Amino acid sequence: MGEGDRLLPAVALRPPRAPHRMAERSPAIRSQAGGPRLPMSLDWEDWFQLCCPPYDAPEALDRYACRLPLATDLALGLCAELGATATWFCLGDQARRHPDLLRRIAAQGHRLGLHGLTHRRAFEMDRPAFRAALRDGKALLEDLSGQPVVGYRAPEWSLRGPAEAWWEELGELGFAYDSSRAPLALMGDPRWPRRAHRLPGGLWELPPPVLWSGPVRSPLWGWGLRVLPFGLLRRALEDLALADAGTPLVLHPWELDEGQPALPGASLGHRFAHGAGLRGHGDRLRELWAGFRLVSLETWLEGA
Ligand SMILES: [Zn+2]
Repeated sequence: MGEGDRLLPAVALRPPRAPHRMAERSPAIRSQAGGPRLPMSLDWEDWFQLCCPPYDAPEALDRYACRLPLATDLALGLCAELGATATWFCLGDQARRHPDLLRRIAAQGHRLGLHGLTHRRAFEMDRPAFRAALRDGKALLEDLSGQPVVGYRAPEWSLRGPAEAWWEELGELGFAYDSSRAPLALMGDPRWPRRAHRLPGGLWELPPPVLWSGPVRSPLWGWGLRVLPFGLLRRALEDLALADAGTPLVLHPWELDEGQPALPGASLGHRFAHGAGLRGHGDRLRELWAGFRLVSLETWLEGA
C-alpha cells in the first residue's frame, strides 16, 4: 500500500523524526479515543510456562516461583495507561489457582478467552481430549468470571500440523472465533491469510500480526516486538490499524516483569525468545502502542 492509498491521514500518526518522542509531539497521538483501532490480547500465563517439558507439566506450577499476580498488576496498569480494554486468553490451571485475579481482570472491563486448560500444545493431545479441554476450559472460565467466553488461542499457535483442522471443534462448542493460526513458517503456515477472515462454516480467525516486508517475515509480538527497530514496528502496526486488519496485538504479562529469574535449563532458542529485550519493554510499549484505540477481540468483531 502506497502513501496515497491510506484511508486515514497517516501523517497524524507518524511524525517523520524521533519516534520515541511521538507521544509528546503530536496532539493526535494523545487522543486515545480517536485513533484507528487495533484488537489487543494478552496470554495469561506465568513466566516459566514454556510449551515443553518440564515447564508444561502440572507439577511446574509448584516447582517454580509464582509471579503471575505481580505480572498481572503490571499488565493491568499498562492497559489502564493506554486506555485499552483487551482480551485475556487464560489458562484453566492458573484460573483455578487465582480466581480472584481472574475476576479482577474481568471487573476492569476486559474480556476473557481460553488459552487451554493447561499450557500443553494442542497437537500433543488427541482430538477428543482437545475437544474435552475446550469444553471444560470454557465452562471453568465462565463459572469463575460470570462472563461468556467465545474466543480461543492455542498455546504456542499449536493448531498446526496434525491439529491444523481442529478449529472445527470451536464452533460446535459455542466459540465465535479462533486466534491460533500464525501465518509464519515453523509456528504456522505462511500461506494462511494475514488478516482477520472467516473460516469455512463461519468461525472467525484473527491471526497474530506479522512483519511481511520483502524477504523479512517476523512475528510482531514476543521477541519480535522486543528487539526489532521501533520505527519499523510502529510503521507496521500503523499499516495494520489503518487497514483495520483485525490482527491482535499479543502480550504476555511476564514480558513486563523485569525481575523474573532466568529459566533454568532452557535451550538457547527458548532463552532468546523468552528473555531478549525484556529490559524497558513496558516503557517501549507505552510509546509503541500509544494513539491506537486498543479494543478486545470481541469488540473488534462487533464492528467487523
Ligand atoms: Zn501461551
